Amino acid sequence: MTYDKNNIFAKILRGEIPCKKVYENEYVLSFYDINPQKKIHILVIPKAEYTDLDDFTSRASEKEISELIKGITTVAKKLGISINGGEGYRALSNIGLNGGQEVPHLHFHLFGGEKIGRMVS
Ligand code: 5GP
Repeated sequence: MTYDKNNIFAKILRGEIPCKKVYENEYVLSFYDINPQKKIHILVIPKAEYTDLDDFTSRASEKEISELIKGITTVAKKLGISINGGEGYRALSNIGLNGGQEVPHLHFHLFGGEKIGRMVS
């Protein structure tokens, strides 16, 4: 799929739309989901243009891939939901139509702050 430069997360990355930022470095941005599904619901996205996880793993550098994964755990620690110091969380990425992906810029959801429940409902 061609990357849509007008998707909502691209606009957030360009600063055209505000977000409630949690964490940022050269490679990743993390912010609160606008419509939280759990007590804590955060999004972690790469700064570069990737539509989904399949696109990311086929085109991203090893550095970008490791920075995104490390970004997830950094954010979890910052929010106090990681295993060390917290009670755990769920990291999840919806991919494509059947995965239920709505925004076509790769993102991981982090859910925590309470029991998340069944894997799939
Ligand atoms: P998806 O269904 O693509 O995996 O998830 C997209 C997520 O983006 C949804 O949880 C939705 O609430 C969130 N979202 C959509 N628009 C915005 C926005 O403008 N700001 C923020 N912070 N989150 C958004």
